[in-house]
Amino acid sequence: MRVYEKRLDIEKDVADLHKQNKSIGFVPTMGALHTGHLALVKKALDQNHVVVVSIFVNPTQFNNSEDLIKYPRTLESDLALLSTVSDDLIVFIPQSEEIYGQETNALNYNFNGLENEMEGKFRPGHFDGVGTVLKHFFTIVSPTRAYFGEKDFQQLQIVKKLVEIENMSVQIIGCPIFRETSGLALSSRNKRLSEKQLQESPLIYKTLKQVKNDFGTKSVLDLTDWVSEQFKNNKVLELEYFEIAKVSDLKSIREKQKNIKYRAFIAVFAGEVRLIDNIALN
Ligand code: AMP
Repeated sequence: MRVYEKRLDIEKDVADLHKQNKSIGFVPTMGALHTGHLALVKKALDQNHVVVVSIFVNPTQFNNSEDLIKYPRTLESDLALLSTVSDDLIVFIPQSEEIYGQETNALNYNFNGLENEMEGKFRPGHFDGVGTVLKHFFTIVSPTRAYFGEKDFQQLQIVKKLVEIENMSVQIIGCPIFRETSGLALSSRNKRLSEKQLQESPLIYKTLKQVKNDFGTKSVLDLTDWVSEQFKNNKVLELEYFEIAKVSDLKSIREKQKNIKYRAFIAVFAGEVRLIDNIALN
């Protein structure tokens, strides 16, 4: 495993790889790695000569400073976990200045309105931060393909838009959501859940699955009301939003139309810990 902290060092390695016509798969992460991240790395290994994994808790995508401070950082075990997948990975673990220079600022993006829906509404500036850090990473790593989880489906759509706007040649590849056997979507933030919160959190996916089941027969309004009911009496989980939205533009809908792809999206608080999930409905 080659571990780099400095931008110039990884840029040199990547330039050599390109000279040798090697394809580069890239998996950007914020660390606290779990099986979901490893699945992205495995897919990247299957499809490319070389794989770069970055571990960087990006300050500009956190709208909540407490969330940034408390975000789990587990570098040693992350590296150990990555080495179980392959000895051959390139791992990039920069400090903030390597990416942003002296001023840690996000650019302002217009992702055709994708940035104003759901996560964008509840986490102002979040997608400017995501877009900015990925623009920097794509410039440094210059990957052939980059891998993102459908767990963050809105992010995946926005990254596709980002490479269009920035005219970058990287191919963006989506990967399915990995879950605990309980159904809870794997997330670095799960490490912060108490025993009780862990026990209750499978309700999130259970609810989404029922919505998928009933999507053909029930109205959007009825489904939305039903979801609110599921969380109303739960003392551990608090619903932030539930939306059924079109996959194409992520705008939420009130009524279904034929031949349009929909997905259900949910954000829930378990105490201070914010959990998101989503499911394809048709
Ligand atoms: P993060 O470290 O949370 O920024 O995530 C890094 C990448 O892993 C993102 O593309 C996420 O969408 C993806 N990811 C996180 N959790 C999961 C999961 N449970 N299943 C699949 N991909 C995931």
